Amino acid sequence: MPLEEIGWLRRGACRSSDPDLFFPLAPTPLQEARAKAVCARCQVIEECRAYALRSGESEGIWGGLTPEERRRSRFPSGWRRPAAS
Ligand code: SF4
Repeated sequence: MPLEEIGWLRRGACRSSDPDLFFPLAPTPLQEARAKAVCARCQVIEECRAYALRSGESEGIWGGLTPEERRRSRFPSGWRRPAAS
């Protein structure tokens, strides 16, 4: 990823956090809640979320959203047309 595209990360509240909190090997509800609490006080949450959605980041917490929440945001239920019969 080009540095100019993620330069805002330098101002991220997660900069001083344990990376495992945002990219755990085995996510748990507690870990996700703790990561989201960091994101909630982040000054670049909008940039981070927009980047993750635009780039299709498939791992980790970005912009206060889990991978599943980002997938649902990109592809809301009912987006797919039924297959022709
Ligand atoms: S929104 Fe969350 S993941 Fe993104 S830079 Fe801020 S703290 Fe880090």
